[in-house]
Amino acid sequence: MSVVTRFAPAPTGSLHVGNIRTAIHNWLWARKNNGRFLLRFDDTDRTRSSEESAESIRRDLAWLGLGHDEEHRQSARFDRYEDALERLRASGRVYPAYETAQELDLKRKVHLGRGKPPVYDRAALQLSDEERARLEAEGRRPHWRFRLDHDAAIEWDDLVRGRQHFDPALLSDPVIRREDGSWLYMLPSTVDDIDMGVTHVVRGEDHVTNTALQIQMFEALGAPAPAFAHEALLVGSEGKLSKRLGSLGTEAMKAEGIEPLAILAKLARIGTSLPVEPVADPSSLVEAFDFATFGRAPARFDLEELKALNARIVHGLPFSAVADRLPKGMGAEDWAAIRPNLKSVAEAGDWWAILHGHVEAAAPEEDRAFLAQAADAAAALGWGATPWADLVAALKGSSGRAGKALFLPLRRALTGRDSGPEMAALLPLIGRDETIARLRAAGGM
Ligand code: GLU
Repeated sequence: MSVVTRFAPAPTGSLHVGNIRTAIHNWLWARKNNGRFLLRFDDTDRTRSSEESAESIRRDLAWLGLGHDEEHRQSARFDRYEDALERLRASGRVYPAYETAQELDLKRKVHLGRGKPPVYDRAALQLSDEERARLEAEGRRPHWRFRLDHDAAIEWDDLVRGRQHFDPALLSDPVIRREDGSWLYMLPSTVDDIDMGVTHVVRGEDHVTNTALQIQMFEALGAPAPAFAHEALLVGSEGKLSKRLGSLGTEAMKAEGIEPLAILAKLARIGTSLPVEPVADPSSLVEAFDFATFGRAPARFDLEELKALNARIVHGLPFSAVADRLPKGMGAEDWAAIRPNLKSVAEAGDWWAILHGHVEAAAPEEDRAFLAQAADAAAALGWGATPWADLVAALKGSSGRAGKALFLPLRRALTGRDSGPEMAALLPLIGRDETIARLRAAGGM
């Protein structure tokens, strides 16, 4: 069996960490099985969907490296849904209903008031032809419900949640098409999954009840149901899906300097028993991907943790992976020296400016003589392979300084900062003449 997964966003906005995670899991499962990963726009709602948002979703997936093998959109497939509706109508699995939203609401309240589950009472199934004709003559248009088979227990082995059971008698016959002819999500999604040969539906656990209903739709349409994996939802560090998390998308993460690889490494594994760790490329994520490692508890997402993981990934990025994002003239050695101290690739530009730009000279009075002495020592050095170690060795004896009192004034004079990459790595990049000049200037010479 060749695996086919699909990511099916409604193009009504941009992606956020929650649905990016779903996309990643679908992509990983397809890649792991040498299968196909489909992008399907659930755009039956023509008023809320936009091409702009579809484009932003494509852009996000491309940036994340989640290449898809096919793209589909529901708005191009209305004839397929009509077709399925007709077939289900012919087999008695779909029926027209005429209740208004207010009438349905009232029924729900009455049920709840009697301590019963608010399940639709199927009153529409009792209508005679005359009654239907009268309602239509009043100007009522029907909406359409899928008739569940109350005698067929609904069961499946969920790849994340294990064995699932639903009693169809406790579920309302779902509305699949509205009065105005527009489609609800339920039937089109089932028809698509059949037509596109989807073998695994991977989505959030908020869809579990939909799955129960759709399993009967697959049967009614004469198709085997795919496998299902319902992942636990993503929550913020404070324990719920906050507004902030719900709107945290690639633009915001990009602005924080977060690499697509860090997003993949994090979202592939939070909520699983696998370690969230820096990776050099997605292949190890693909290889280890396994629904059996997914937990049932909500996965906690913390932006600060993602930033920390990102820094560790940046520290391992080879020059070839970042060359086109580095300042002009910056070479592999420069990158190797600067890389261990970065939080983001963009910060390399700041360090480049420090190495090759101007450093604020003024040093406090008590350090000036020491820095002047350091300038002389630097000028006297042979400037071999280890200029920093040689300079420190020369100054240790002659200045009487040690530790922080020795290192910090030098670091400040040479970089203008209190911390940063190893001075041993920076000094060769600053170069002999500039080192001497910076120490001289700071020493007030
Ligand atoms: N458009 C649906 C959603 O975004 C798709 C759910 C599914 O994967 O079937 O929730």
